[in-house]
Amino acid sequence: MQITMIGAGYVGLTTGTCLAAIGHGVCCYDIDAAKISRLRRFDPPIYEPGLEDAMRQAVAAGHLRFTSRLRESVSDADVVFIAVGTPAGPGGGIDLSHVLGAAKRIAPHLKRSALVVIKSTVVVGTARRVRETIARKRSAFDIRVASNPEFLREGSAMADFLGPDRIVIGADDTRSRNILRALYRPLARAGVPVVATTTGNAELIKYAANAFLALKIGFVNDVADLCERTGGDIADVARGIGLDRRIGDSFLAPGPGFGGSCFPKDTRAFAATGRQFGAPQKLVETLIARNDQRKVALARRILKEGRLSPGGRVAVLGLAFKANTDDVRESAALTVIPALQEASLQVIAHDPKAEANARRHMKDVIWAESPYAACKGASAAIVLTEWDEYRQLNLSRLAGELSGDLLVDYRNLFDPQAVVQHGLRYISLGRSAAPADQCTGVSSLKTWDRRVAAPGHA
Ligand code: NAD
Repeated sequence: MQITMIGAGYVGLTTGTCLAAIGHGVCCYDIDAAKISRLRRFDPPIYEPGLEDAMRQAVAAGHLRFTSRLRESVSDADVVFIAVGTPAGPGGGIDLSHVLGAAKRIAPHLKRSALVVIKSTVVVGTARRVRETIARKRSAFDIRVASNPEFLREGSAMADFLGPDRIVIGADDTRSRNILRALYRPLARAGVPVVATTTGNAELIKYAANAFLALKIGFVNDVADLCERTGGDIADVARGIGLDRRIGDSFLAPGPGFGGSCFPKDTRAFAATGRQFGAPQKLVETLIARNDQRKVALARRILKEGRLSPGGRVAVLGLAFKANTDDVRESAALTVIPALQEASLQVIAHDPKAEANARRHMKDVIWAESPYAACKGASAAIVLTEWDEYRQLNLSRLAGELSGDLLVDYRNLFDPQAVVQHGLRYISLGRSAAPADQCTGVSSLKTWDRRVAAPGHA
């Protein structure tokens, strides 16, 4: 099958490369000609493990190509995916102008039998709007529009595409549904369940799934706060919850609030859709507010509990919103770093992959080449992203580089006892809060007993 991907960003590029890897002929088109030039040189503008190798193999096999010529890319395609951005719009909704703009531009070049498939995350009713947009340009033709939301995660996008939990195909007619079934047959044959439904349901599935996952994160963050107050340990509590198969163990790690290009935008859009249709999504509305507040509260906590002197230097380790990506959109660092700077602290930052993107969003930051270089002479180290590189840090070396004694770990990467043994004060999440002049994060039966006996303890 000949496929064209409109938009060669995170989703378009990884999906296009993977569709080529399972044997389809794929042409990736992007409005950004500079991006296409880079892709032709196998220099993807995003960091994604395994992507570059897969691109090289697919191009060498003659299954993948890149172009900035729209007509050439669309005119012989059997299936045209729209995988352009859907940024946040006013009032929490999304801005559909890229999707509708792409539909308008491709319309004159589509061959008569082409199926247009919306890959971008869009609000319910968008497939109908795309169909109307194309029909305005091509009234003589009956172009079909389907919906095929993407569930891949940045950092494991290739594996997620090739081994997903399910594939959702939304189509309002049998022919379109059969084309999508044929497209994904190699994955379905390997046992991946296919959910075939209407376009409207497919659009709702994507938002409802992301809202649910975000709710899990928000929930475990609240439970982590409760663990701190009661002298508990979120690791044990989360494991005890997650081993229940009805709940599952994913998305149960406490952190500094979710970020990235999807959860913040998608939860807001889901809530806005609920308001629009008179079915308010109150749980999700509360989650959005709690998540925003959490980033601010955790930034304040560093200032309150850290006892950092104005004018001093602090090291921030991790700028990406999560590990294995260079994406900094809505990352905790974007809230924490300005708060530290406002308190007259000088920030020196490190991230294994996200520095280039972070530079576009952050001012007056000193950039370090390694986590140890960042910590040199700093009064505190603050870990915001769960990179393996940070998990493996040598605590003795880290303590030696710091001029102060504070390690803030908002990803719970370290064993509290090990941190304390290196003479560091430790702030982590969901482990018992200790008296201000001692280490935090170490719970004992004694403190737990005392706090459970006095539930008002703060
Ligand atoms: P992105 O910003 O990385 O890429 C979008 C690309 O579309 C850009 O390269 C841009 O130049 C291009 N573009 C914009 N208008 C165009 C046009 N008219 N013609 C051709 N190209 C055009 O965005 P992304 O992260 O790939 O997200 C795309 C969609 O997929 C969004 O709706 C997003 O919510 C959804 N999604 C993203 C992820 C993720 O992890 N990033 C996961 C699932 C779904």
